[in-house]
Amino acid sequence: MCPSAGAVSWGVRTLVVGAGIFGVTAARELRARGAEVVLLDPGPVPHVAAASTDISKVVRREYGADAPYTAWMDDALQGFRRWNSELGDTLFHETGVLFMSGAPLAEGGFEADSLALLEARGAAVHRVTRDQVAARFPGWAASPLPEGLHDEAGGWVESGRLVGRLAELAVAEGVVMRQGRALRLLERAGRIVGVAIASEHEHEHEHADEVVLCMGAWTTDLVPSLAVTLRAVAQPVFHLRPREPALFEGGRFPVFGADIARAGWYGFPLHPHAGVVKVAHHGAGLPLHPDSPARVVGPADIARLRGFLGATFPALADAELVHTRACMYSDTADGHLLIARDPERAGLTVAAGDSGHAFKFAPLLGRWIADAALETAAPPARFAWRSPAPTPAPEPGRTPAPATPPPTGDAARARD
Ligand SMILES: Cc1cc2nc3c(=O)[nH]c(=O)nc-3n(C[C@H](O)[C@H](O)[C@H](O)COP(=O)(O)OP(=O)(O)OC[C@H]3O[C@@H](n4cnc5c(N)ncnc54)[C@H](O)[C@@H]3O)c2cc1C
Repeated sequence: MCPSAGAVSWGVRTLVVGAGIFGVTAARELRARGAEVVLLDPGPVPHVAAASTDISKVVRREYGADAPYTAWMDDALQGFRRWNSELGDTLFHETGVLFMSGAPLAEGGFEADSLALLEARGAAVHRVTRDQVAARFPGWAASPLPEGLHDEAGGWVESGRLVGRLAELAVAEGVVMRQGRALRLLERAGRIVGVAIASEHEHEHEHADEVVLCMGAWTTDLVPSLAVTLRAVAQPVFHLRPREPALFEGGRFPVFGADIARAGWYGFPLHPHAGVVKVAHHGAGLPLHPDSPARVVGPADIARLRGFLGATFPALADAELVHTRACMYSDTADGHLLIARDPERAGLTVAAGDSGHAFKFAPLLGRWIADAALETAAPPARFAWRSPAPTPAPEPGRTPAPATPPPTGDAARARD
């Protein structure tokens, strides 16, 4: 999807720091609007430690009763479909999505509210029972979850591969990729004029008219004052090799949320290339710096996984665990992204606060971030610069304030 031809800003020197999905989409959009763009990342891109770098991310439009996210997701779905044809590669797999609830659907619940809102929008969604799900998806035969919704739209995207392809396109469009780590912001007369960089051999300065930070969970390294707004939190991801792979193939096993707003579990069909079933958990998570050695998935996480699989997918309960990953959220208290200019220092825009659910907005992120950086339009109000009172760590399965469900990694503001 070619970046939009929004208001042009010929010759504005823009430095984008961080080449995850926020950074590569912003860099392409800024370039399309005529800016000179340098995209800085320690690399190689996609960076192995980045939240965007994974084999899969959920792409769904279920957001409980939250109308703006639901509407944006209809646009984003179109964007992912266009990327498949433009890239000549199916990186977005539209398998449909299934969200099963731990209790009969009731107003106020993530699944019920999503169903009601999507039905009101005329979407192809269906209320489903446990037996209907088991009949269609044999891998769900033993699931105790009584009711939910199935959506024909949505599915999953090969996130790391998509970041890699978009970065290649960015370079072809004239974005200059620089390998290095930003150490600190350079300020002159109250304006941000660049960053100091540690690259392989030396420290140097990269100057720019506009600096756009897309550093995810690392953002407070360069803007410590945002520590009241952004919290880096690790969440566990598991890759399992099933004994009966056919049971979990796409078409026979959808992208799912299993009582996601309460229990926090979600997962994917068998990955066609990796040959694994990815399952992940959205919960309170482990607050830590993304470079911390403590960023690992521990025995307690694995025990909780085995408990969940035993109760819901017995055919996966003893599957070989071939990989784990502690992936980082840049969390906000209200679960909304942060895409805004620094109100105190000109020349600086920050795009972070993904709260575990922003990858699915990839087709829209570049426009939102470029609008903020070039002041061509106000990003959605809920992404404004804010410093809310710190809130206590949420319980597992939390549902961020706005939308009922987890936003979570892809747990239903529903945070994913
Ligand atoms: C477990 C988990 C599951 C998730 N599941 C989903 C899902 O199913 N669906 C969904 O929509 N979203 C999901 N998300 C959220 C999604 O991954 C994020 O919203 C998105 O990837 C954030 O992208 P980003 O570009 O902000 O950050 P990142 O991808 O982390 O990129 C930040 C980049 O900044 C670079 N950087 C850091 N410090 C510096 C520095 N000093 N100088 C230069 N560069 C620097 C890093 O190298 C990195 O490349 C999930 C997240 C997690 C953690």
